[in-house]
Amino acid sequence: MIRTLSRSLAVTFVTLVAVPAAAQTPPVPAVHISPAEIAALLETAIAKSAVDQPIKSADVHGGKALVAMLHRDRAEAGALIHERVTETYYILHGSGTIVTGGTLGGTAKPTDLTRVGAGPSLSGERQGGDSRHVSPGDVIIIPAGTPHSFSTLDSPISYLVFRFDPGK
Ligand SMILES: [Zn+2]
Repeated sequence: MIRTLSRSLAVTFVTLVAVPAAAQTPPVPAVHISPAEIAALLETAIAKSAVDQPIKSADVHGGKALVAMLHRDRAEAGALIHERVTETYYILHGSGTIVTGGTLGGTAKPTDLTRVGAGPSLSGERQGGDSRHVSPGDVIIIPAGTPHSFSTLDSPISYLVFRFDPGK
């Protein structure tokens, strides 16, 4: 009897310990962005020359996930590095050449992009790197610490940026 009891306690203990940690964390509600919201933000971007508009975000396990609407009328003069935020671009409209990698030349200047979810960043001159021509449907993952910028545009370009900040 005692042996059976201690065995069932042991089973209970193992069961409790074996529950994955994620199952014990309260779930974070999902966030939805509709095509209508994206279209409305794109209209604002064009009307007000708003380059970078955060749409929605969620505090998730391990950091913060954010989606932004980006719209550029002209290429970028310099390049940017985000110290800890990794970005994924999804091109919606327009086309151009994006340069990633290389180094930041000149005097790299600290730039705080926390407001748009890109966190502590550096801006400087574009030096070296890989050039890619991108158009609607293309996806580019830009790891934290990698210089990036659009060096030329064929036309105004709009893209969704998915940002993950592990420091938030
Ligand atoms: Zn960026």
